Amino acid sequence: MSMFKDIPVDVGVIYEGERIRRKQMQVELGGPSIKEKFELAKVKPLNEVEDGKITIIGPDIKDMKEGEAYPLGILVEVAGSTIDQQLEGVIERRIHGYMNFIEGFMHLNQRYDIWIRLGKKSFQKGLNSFTYIGKVLYKLFKSELSIIEKAQITFITDPEKVKELYPCALEDYEARDARARGLKDEEVDKFYGCVLCQSFAPSHVCVITPQRYSNCGAISWFDGRASAQVDPKGPVFAIERGELVDAEKGEYSGVNEIVKKKSLGDVNRVWLYTAFDYPHTSCGCFEAVAFYIPEVDGFGLVNRSFKGVTVNGLPFSTLADSTAGGRQVDGFHGISIEYMRSPKFLEADGGWNRVVWVPKEVKERVKDFIPKEVVDKVATEEDAQNIDSLKAFLKEKDHPVVARWTAETAVEEAVSAEAIAEEGAMIPVVSAANLPITAGGFKIILKDAKIYAKKVIIRSMKDNKKAKG
Ligand code: ZN
Repeated sequence: MSMFKDIPVDVGVIYEGERIRRKQMQVELGGPSIKEKFELAKVKPLNEVEDGKITIIGPDIKDMKEGEAYPLGILVEVAGSTIDQQLEGVIERRIHGYMNFIEGFMHLNQRYDIWIRLGKKSFQKGLNSFTYIGKVLYKLFKSELSIIEKAQITFITDPEKVKELYPCALEDYEARDARARGLKDEEVDKFYGCVLCQSFAPSHVCVITPQRYSNCGAISWFDGRASAQVDPKGPVFAIERGELVDAEKGEYSGVNEIVKKKSLGDVNRVWLYTAFDYPHTSCGCFEAVAFYIPEVDGFGLVNRSFKGVTVNGLPFSTLADSTAGGRQVDGFHGISIEYMRSPKFLEADGGWNRVVWVPKEVKERVKDFIPKEVVDKVATEEDAQNIDSLKAFLKEKDHPVVARWTAETAVEEAVSAEAIAEEGAMIPVVSAANLPITAGGFKIILKDAKIYAKKVIIRSMKDNKKAKG
């Protein structure tokens, strides 16, 4: 693009989705090893923004050691006679898309979770200052969103300053989320869709409803509406909700239609309020994962910044990998923290009555939205570190899932295949072109499978798990 003549590397959509591995990186900004990092957009009065100004507080890229990680705060302040505060979320989310247009530059996640890498090659080409990054952002904001009349961008790398501003950013996010609460899915006839993540997850379409935030936790229904209005050709668009097919599971004809179209036929059906069968797809930037734990017939939740292993022995990264990429994975579900506060949160599966384990940090954040009867019955990493201690805890607290355990054993049935098996030889009991198996929290898909067995035990778990708890 000729508008980027003064930038030492290329800028364009073709660089979206580009991954930069640790070995190829010059520096890392934010990311899992840095506690305090953020990006924030603020709408300001016209006289408080100096158009085109780019400020760096702290060391610049060229002052940073190769291969190291640094704290970063990005502040985008905009002004315009027709912009209102409601657009802050929309503008902020664009930082992700625009930064990924830069060759050799990778931006992941959002808000307090940002993870940025600059590749060595681009650094060697001269991309060695935040001034360039700021210029790209400035130009794209001004050219893509015409309501922005003035913009100034600040990069903060001074660790003390980032630390100081971090809690203010968290307050801003919370205030924004709180403003969006209250409206119900039934009360609107339009939802919003977002395909911002398709560069990393091609079949992913985020469906944003008043009671279901985008997976990344950065776009509310109000943000979606504002975005679709100011930039109708952008990544966020209106969805005519259509006919309500299933109120409990959250199936809408309009959603099915648009998801089918925008995923190019990969996904044909979405149930918004359940993690089973046709769950909402997971991109890559979801704030948390809900994962089914078959041993206790309940859900664990884990957020991106949780450092340890979860109660089933797996860390966030492994659980995230098993659901990411725009797929629908039965029992795995990429979600936002704000969705945990919604009355529609896994509603068809039992909501919080079905949640058995969650990191303490997340529980604290959403505590006021967990029903009182169950709040002390949901374990954290302090109460349970593995399935056995989780079982003991749930039993002791008489968690609602415990009632499901006895029901399950009662319908267990053993079917012996011995009668039809010949001496010394086993016969195939299952053969299928595409056979998914869910076990121990994993889904394994066997292609063109034939399974041989001496004995088959059939448990009717499926009807059970779908029942409302
Ligand atoms: Zn995403």
